[in-house]
Amino acid sequence: MPAELSKIGIDTTTLLPGYPQVLEALDSWRHFHSLNHFFGGDAELLVGRHSDSGLEIIAINAPWLYDRPGNPYLDGIGQDWPDNHLRFAALAMASAYICNVSDHSLAPDVVHAHDWQAGLSPLYLRELGNSDVASVFTVHNIAFQGTFPPSSIHQLHLPADQFDVEGYEYHGQVGMLKAGMYYADKITTVSPTYAREIQTSEFGMGLEGLLHDRRRDLGGIVNGIDASIWNPETDQALKQTYGIGTLERRAVNKAAVQIRFGLNVEPLRPLFCIVSRLTHQKGMDLVLDALDQLIAVGGQLALIGTGDPAIEQAFTAAARKYQGDVGCIIGYDEMVSHQLQGGCDTILVPSRFEPCGLTQLYGLRYGCIPIVSRVGGLADTVVDANDTALLDDVATGIVLNNVSKDGLSAAIERAVELYAQTNIWRCMQRRGMSRQLNWARAAQRYAETYQAAITSRSVS
Ligand code: ADP
Repeated sequence: MPAELSKIGIDTTTLLPGYPQVLEALDSWRHFHSLNHFFGGDAELLVGRHSDSGLEIIAINAPWLYDRPGNPYLDGIGQDWPDNHLRFAALAMASAYICNVSDHSLAPDVVHAHDWQAGLSPLYLRELGNSDVASVFTVHNIAFQGTFPPSSIHQLHLPADQFDVEGYEYHGQVGMLKAGMYYADKITTVSPTYAREIQTSEFGMGLEGLLHDRRRDLGGIVNGIDASIWNPETDQALKQTYGIGTLERRAVNKAAVQIRFGLNVEPLRPLFCIVSRLTHQKGMDLVLDALDQLIAVGGQLALIGTGDPAIEQAFTAAARKYQGDVGCIIGYDEMVSHQLQGGCDTILVPSRFEPCGLTQLYGLRYGCIPIVSRVGGLADTVVDANDTALLDDVATGIVLNNVSKDGLSAAIERAVELYAQTNIWRCMQRRGMSRQLNWARAAQRYAETYQAAITSRSVS
């Protein structure tokens, strides 16, 4: 997204925690600012350019916060790091300091903060007196709130008098996501449908009232995909590259997936895939419930994912039960995710809620027809193959009528019927592959949002 923003004249600098991999990827960096006594140590801000893209990055060099094994959020055994409140408050606080430093070449007009990890940024901006810097806050998933006990208020340098429902308090806790929504000038989320859904009690996690009150400041912008990484014509992960005019070449990739996943190599059987966190949100329990039906109508399933241990075990057991028809890899492997998109006939995304969703976008780009729920970004990006859409030549996938075992089974049956009509299937593949899914459109919408945030700040 920063690369696309720069093409339309918006200079961006990306602020990141100084994870070792971030520091390694920073070229020709220089010291930019010291942050002494900063959340448990003396930190410094380094500015440099990302070695691949050339984009400008500021990294927070604070090894006691960011130099550790595990992933950015979790330790080696999958638990939240116990000092996550400090690690991410530091990120948010650094954004506010950057607006204050004397090197004005880096002082922004807008701070665009993402998710609970950066949720305190709009609040710190106000607290540190940067009232002329506008803020935009993007919610990528309202289910992840970033809540911490009130005892952290002092440690996080938060104004105690704003620990209130009209402030950053969320159900008696410090709510970092809530703070972002409450204090930012503009709020976005990652699809228009999700922007509407989170104003309802079904999806709003108790914040629907706040979001409804702020609806004029709230919008939805669907994510783009990086077409240089997700391009079937050049994708080195694939056994056989292909394009819109050479879809028959996918057969080589399909056979490769069948072999890799221990499936019977049968070119004409509809091959379903899943690339997903294995969780209730993603409707993975429904896939298990509908698996008998998937096999009964002649399908095969290849799955890669990690998540809920019970769901992982159930898929492993299913692969044993349906040997040759169901194969799974419990793990995370991006190469395999490309191979599934480039070889399977269809991808299942039966989420209960889905702010944007990326795998259905990759599916569209790769001619791997998405089967999705009618929620969030899935509803906004896939056109159901109903009779009218097929007649009008606009269908790109299959949308579940209800998110249940029966709804999913019916969608799987419809997919198998359509797959048997090769001409219709090919047309749907080509239509999906020709959709504009890159970041250009989203960048334009963010640029408009930044302008609106600046305008609202200047009149407030
Ligand atoms: P979410 O962010 O809610 O998990 P998205 O669909 O928005 O869901 O994005 C998930 C991303 O993670 C996609 O890029 C998908 O390809 C990737 N992914 C998920 N699970 C795996 C896995 N097991 N191996 C490789 N990539 C995965």
